[in-house]
Amino acid sequence: MVSGRSAAIAVVGAATVLLVARLIMGGQKKPARCVFCHPLNGVVYEDDDFIAFHDIKPDAELHILVIPRAHYGTIRELTATELPTIKRMHEIGQRLLDERGYAGDKARFGFHRPPFNSIHHLHLHCLGLPFRSRRAAIPFPENGSAWFMPAQQLIDSLAVA
Ligand SMILES: [Zn+2]
Ligand SMILES: [Zn+2]
Repeated sequence: MVSGRSAAIAVVGAATVLLVARLIMGGQKKPARCVFCHPLNGVVYEDDDFIAFHDIKPDAELHILVIPRAHYGTIRELTATELPTIKRMHEIGQRLLDERGYAGDKARFGFHRPPFNSIHHLHLHCLGLPFRSRRAAIPFPENGSAWFMPAQQLIDSLAVA
């Protein structure tokens, strides 16, 4: 009986360690292979919760990505709880583009719709137009598509969720 009880204690102990580890990490695991969970080049902004950096393969004159430090795979994982996070990402992107002379029609913001994500870590594409080519514009249609969700559309849909 003693060994059974100590085994039970060991199991509870292990579960507690896992729970504490998850709490410390903010509830999100950082997958070892996710490039956005690790240091990035071309950073233009960062704070405790977000990082913004130049896309390594720009599709527009200016092409910045804004990511949360917390790991979310895609927009499908988001609920109303993440609404403030998405709004912050949009605000950061708008400010960065505005500071560089891209506002109104010259600025476009949006997310991949799964399964059409390039990198499996939530990121906001911030595009300062014009696009570099007609082909470069295809992934980012102004009014959204099966593969692209404008940032404002996502904010509106989370707000009513
Ligand atoms: Zn990640
Ligand atoms: Zn992308």
